[in-house]
Amino acid sequence: MARANWARGAMLAALLAVMALAPFSAPAADDPEVAAYRRAVEQRFAAWLQALWPDAEAAGVSRATFDANLKGLRLNWSLPHLVLPNPAGPDGPKHQPEFDAPVFYFKDGTLNALSATGRAKVAQFRPALVAIQKQYGVPASIVVAIWGRETGFGKIDAPHDALATIATQGFMGRRPDEFRPQMIAALKIIEEGHATRAQLKSSWAGAMGYTQFMPTDFEEFAVDFDGDGKRDIWNSIPDSLASTANSLKSQGWDGAKTWGHEVQLPQGFDCTLQGPDKARPIAEWVKLGVARARDGAFPENKLGDSAFLVLPAGLKGPAFLATDNFSVLKLYNNSDVYAIFVGHVADMIASNAPVKFAGAWKPVERLPRDRIQRFQEVLVAQGHDVGKVDGLAGFKTRAAIGVTEKRLGLPLTCYPSQRVVDAVMKEASAARP
Ligand code: CA
Repeated sequence: MARANWARGAMLAALLAVMALAPFSAPAADDPEVAAYRRAVEQRFAAWLQALWPDAEAAGVSRATFDANLKGLRLNWSLPHLVLPNPAGPDGPKHQPEFDAPVFYFKDGTLNALSATGRAKVAQFRPALVAIQKQYGVPASIVVAIWGRETGFGKIDAPHDALATIATQGFMGRRPDEFRPQMIAALKIIEEGHATRAQLKSSWAGAMGYTQFMPTDFEEFAVDFDGDGKRDIWNSIPDSLASTANSLKSQGWDGAKTWGHEVQLPQGFDCTLQGPDKARPIAEWVKLGVARARDGAFPENKLGDSAFLVLPAGLKGPAFLATDNFSVLKLYNNSDVYAIFVGHVADMIASNAPVKFAGAWKPVERLPRDRIQRFQEVLVAQGHDVGKVDGLAGFKTRAAIGVTEKRLGLPLTCYPSQRVVDAVMKEASAARP
């Protein structure tokens, strides 16, 4: 009986998970079983919302604001990647998508269109952007590239009620702990009158405004740059761009440095040398045979600067030497390909000639995240530091793969492949008693 109930619950949750992944299909909420499941989850959600009160009160949110905005708030079942609670127990099925291979991230058409519009935006908002660069040290090209990347220069609608979205993510998203503080910060934005509830529209991930600020980003970094007395990331482009520059500057952007350079590696280069923990002066990289992919040799006065190697696709894609500014861009969105995308589009905006990657983004195998996560667990058991065990191949995981490929005599790639994953998993099962 218990088993049958569990199986039924798991099947229903799996069905709902599939539905949640298809936000454009009409949810079959009229199915009585689905409706009953959702009612049960909504009840737990209502209790979860009420439990936010002590934190909200401590942050200065009034009871009136709390009640007016949270009473009757419903889950947004249409969001992607929800981890739906299993009605039969805590271990509901979890959806683990494949992560996008870098090759899909860098399409020439997208890069060209964004940089062309970006150049027009730089011209249109030149006085504000000049003042922003003067105050925060962040070039117009970088700020505008982020604006383009985040919302296509404000063209993309934010379709969701931010509170319902953030609450849903906090209740049953993949990273609930990150969204609880966002909920409190969103209530504060309403309490302090920076925006009305109706203005608080967001992406499915709860990000708002031209450059996709989370509510805590607003608290920490939003500035009034057009001088109307309001920090308005929803309607003012100068406020939005200056707030973005302020967030980068506050988190360490160095106005004297670029984000990085595409480089060419000599044949057979050791790809395990990647990552910020293996930073060294550019002069040392040059000694190892690393050269800029364009614009000639590194200038003499940059040779002492520290830089680290970034290989987002291992040896199956272009190589980059990055500065600490690259790590600041990753605070905006924690992904190597994101930071390279922004840096590259910024280079295209700043240059009047087309800029192409010298290296090719070759196709890579796409492995499910949960398989990479299990692979990471085995690498950790074997003594490797893989960074966060999250099914994503960050620089530490890529370097650990390179070390493993060398040890097993496999071709060196520093990128997850069926071959290296199978070899390591086989070792792990052979080692089990
Ligand atoms: Ca303003």
